[in-house]
Amino acid sequence: MKVLKFGGTSVGSASRMKDVTELVRKRGKNIVVFSAMSGTTNTLVEISDYLYKKNLTGAKETINALEAKYMRTIDELFSTEEYRRKALEAIRERFDFIRSFNKPIFTLFEEKEILAQGELMSTALMINYMHEQGINAVMLPAVEFMRTDKNAEPDTQYIQEKLTALIAENPDADLYITQGYICKNAYGETDNLQRGGSDYTASLIGAAVNADEIEIWTDIDGMHNNDPRFVEGTSPVSELHFEEAAELAYFGAKILHPTCVLPAKLNNIPVRLLNTMQPEAHGTLIYNTRSSNTIKAVAAKDNITAIKIKSSRMLLAYGFLRKVFEIFETHRTSIDMIVTSEVGVSVTVDSERNLPAILEDLKKFGTVTVDRDMVIICVVGDLEWQNRGFEAEVVNALKDVPVRMISYGGSNYNISLLVRKEDKVRALNLLSQRLFK
Ligand code: ADP
Ligand code: ASP
Ligand code: MG
Repeated sequence: MKVLKFGGTSVGSASRMKDVTELVRKRGKNIVVFSAMSGTTNTLVEISDYLYKKNLTGAKETINALEAKYMRTIDELFSTEEYRRKALEAIRERFDFIRSFNKPIFTLFEEKEILAQGELMSTALMINYMHEQGINAVMLPAVEFMRTDKNAEPDTQYIQEKLTALIAENPDADLYITQGYICKNAYGETDNLQRGGSDYTASLIGAAVNADEIEIWTDIDGMHNNDPRFVEGTSPVSELHFEEAAELAYFGAKILHPTCVLPAKLNNIPVRLLNTMQPEAHGTLIYNTRSSNTIKAVAAKDNITAIKIKSSRMLLAYGFLRKVFEIFETHRTSIDMIVTSEVGVSVTVDSERNLPAILEDLKKFGTVTVDRDMVIICVVGDLEWQNRGFEAEVVNALKDVPVRMISYGGSNYNISLLVRKEDKVRALNLLSQRLFK
């Protein structure tokens, strides 16, 4: 059995939904995970923002516009009255629910209920369409098996038990459908696996059922060697090691959610990135492969803040780094990059939420400086230290770009450089010109 996940654009219109149905029908008895139709989750965030601000008119107008889109999709998707009516009922129920939050109290809890509606609606449309097409698709509701624990980590044992039981109850299904992204938390509340988290749903399911493969279907033919939104002429990478894929996903390659790799890697399940618009393309296969002597790809992670702590004392005396790291731990902030020298240490963080408190604490150790609006450029490939020349190639490519930090040697797969936001696109293009031409 495989797990197939289709992202927002793959189910973004009635015609896409029809194509996806054909595609999954041909692939047999698998578990199919769907995201919300593209744009829907963003619109649900917008609606929640209006409700937080008590702007009921704004919320109402946005809900009406979203509903009209679903009505048009239903019109185009269904050819029989029976299934059109079933889909209409299901979608109307969802919109009645969204409208019911029109109350004085609106909190994170209500927002999560609203955010869950996108995947509930896309799967409602898909299952009815599949039934209309004579496919015996069975719904495995995500809220009945996808659960996080008190640390907001997936409760893998619970997921496995519940999912296996749900599948066993429906042995005659042609295929199974479920919602990406949404889950219940340890308190039984509706929750989610963070934006873009449907990829995570797919790999958690893959791990739970020990799938043969996890297929992530999207709008591009695999992981490209640079970010196609900023660099022209990028090309797909045919194979990646789990670690390489994890580095790229973490450092900004949006095609894959960073959390998605670990469950697959731990269970040694290959992940394939495929294009719904071009199903025959090879895409990218992520597994336990090693290909030496190549740089595979480049990615960039935005909104990074660099913090430098400089002291006149012997800064790196033993115990010093522990004290610095403890401050970040106390403020529950993780560090992405780190470089040290005799007199100072620089680290980066991707969230400024606890920055004022962190800076206050760090000042006890010396002079603290902050550089905002930075970008981590991450180059991934066979970067084992015994290899010669790759790090020189990378640094040379960026010889005209001011570089704030360089981090190399933390893994066998990665070299990271910190540059200013305004230099990001140039840096990405220079790296492609040097490394992939
Ligand atoms: P989905 O909605 O299917 O989850 P996403 O929008 O999350 O799709 O991811 C696909 C997008 O990721 C592509 O359209 C592309 O613009 C972007 N992307 C960023 N970096 C890369 C990369 N290195 N390779 C491929 N796509 C990338
Ligand atoms: N629909 C959710 C989002 O837009 C989850 C996903 O697409 O993976 O973030
Ligand atoms: Mg995505």
